[in-house]
Amino acid sequence: MLDTTPPPTGHGHAVADLNGNLFAALRASFPDDLDACAIEIADGADTGKRYSWRDLDRATAMIANLLDSLDLPAGSRVAVQTEKSVESLLLYLAVLRAGYVYLPLNTAYQAAELEYFIGNSEPAVVVCAGKHFGWVSKMAFQAKVPWVFTLNEDRTGTLLDRAVQMPDTHQAAERGADDLAVILYTSGTTGRSKGAMLSHGNMLANARTLKHYWGWRADDVLIHALPIFHIHGLFVASHGALIAGARMLWFNKFDARGVIARLPDATLFMGVPTLYVRMLEHAALTREACARMRLFISGSAPLLIETFNDWRRRTGHTILERYGMSETVMLTSNPYREQDGERIGGTVGFPLPGVGLRVVDDAGAPCSTEGDGEIGHLQVQGPNVFSGYWRMPEKTKEEFTADGWFKTGDVGRRDARGYVTIVGRSKDLIITGGYNVYPAEIEGWLNELPGVAESAVVGVPHPDFGEGVIAVVVPRPGASLDGAVLVAALKDRIAHFKVPKQVFVEPELPRNTMGKVQKNLLRERHRELFT
Ligand code: AMP
Repeated sequence: MLDTTPPPTGHGHAVADLNGNLFAALRASFPDDLDACAIEIADGADTGKRYSWRDLDRATAMIANLLDSLDLPAGSRVAVQTEKSVESLLLYLAVLRAGYVYLPLNTAYQAAELEYFIGNSEPAVVVCAGKHFGWVSKMAFQAKVPWVFTLNEDRTGTLLDRAVQMPDTHQAAERGADDLAVILYTSGTTGRSKGAMLSHGNMLANARTLKHYWGWRADDVLIHALPIFHIHGLFVASHGALIAGARMLWFNKFDARGVIARLPDATLFMGVPTLYVRMLEHAALTREACARMRLFISGSAPLLIETFNDWRRRTGHTILERYGMSETVMLTSNPYREQDGERIGGTVGFPLPGVGLRVVDDAGAPCSTEGDGEIGHLQVQGPNVFSGYWRMPEKTKEEFTADGWFKTGDVGRRDARGYVTIVGRSKDLIITGGYNVYPAEIEGWLNELPGVAESAVVGVPHPDFGEGVIAVVVPRPGASLDGAVLVAALKDRIAHFKVPKQVFVEPELPRNTMGKVQKNLLRERHRELFT
């Protein structure tokens, strides 16, 4: 395995870093001038508010001291469902600092989903928005969660009320590289979500590799406009800026016009493809607006070649597309430096230094990389790859090969030059607007509705979201169903991004001779629905 640790950068503290705690490594990368600006808020009521590096250090110390004061057992989970704010990032850093396990939850999740996550992860602390305290605390206390705090977008709530009474220094808890730092729930193809367990070492290895590979510098300014309950915004973006000692321009919500207006002050932007599509709709996106920008990065879902080309024509910049997943953080990237090669649209570039990637056929034999390369299953290995799914040893075993490679579930190829291209997902995952939707989960919800015999959920091309979720349902004998009523019923139960945009009622589902639903036929049938 390659050593992915880049040489020292010459700034920050020369810490003999025996502590493998990710926070300790991020803290060691803070600039010497702790009064310099670390984060500037770029939208909402607090526009212009600045947080210095010292603010980050003190606030995370206070929250970490609060957590320590609760006498939580080692390895306790801290589950967090709050709107994006700088304070929610500080809470994440404080959980790392105190050595507990952070568990971010998508703000779109509703009661039934939250109940599962809380029941499955058994957190010691839940932090939610004040407006949800009533039902969340009831559910949490029923699940025997001892502590529930609130944290609101406007810096109010019981978490900070308690934290401000705490000392503002804190010695980061000693953690080894293999110690659990974060559990990220990914929806399960069987309908049940799995908690991917990421260690301090998994994330630190990846952050260091990306710092080096993408040429992060202390004078970079990152526009941070992604949600922070997901690896893209929480790890790739935040870790990147923090470990470079670089400033963030912080948007609590993505707004194309607002982001474009701040491009002249920034050097780096990370987005899911949908964000690029939205920005291209504005005439204000020009070469001049991007003159200071160093790098645009896209990931989490396939970037259409049209978007890649339109962006280059309009701004003069070539988007760098990369590929990763919750279980592994980042795996591949198009090159940043010219000497490493060209950024090729439609590909996700090369495996990152230290990451092993192989393409294998159904029998596990290596696929050819001649010419465009043979299509097969992508399997990966490396210091960034997670150790398994929370309390699912059987599932974990299934997802690793006997020789220790993780089966990504993605299907792709690697060409003669080494570029990797993702062509599909063996697990049928739908990605809509950068969010993952697992058909089996939505089918489970649909099948519970009165009058539904069975259902099939697929993604079809959508000009805005990449893929749009649609469903086909078969009524029970004698029942009459209305697709719009089913859509409305789901909207009360699950996150809206998961709800099918359209539900078709049909007498039967197409099946092959093995009895499997032929989803490819459904996709074909409704292919032009949104285009
Ligand atoms: P998540 O765990 O939410 O980050 O989702 C991971 C999945 O997103 C991967 O397994 C891929 O299927 C998909 N994905 C991530 N980045 C890309 C990309 N650049 N191109 C195509 N698919 C991607």
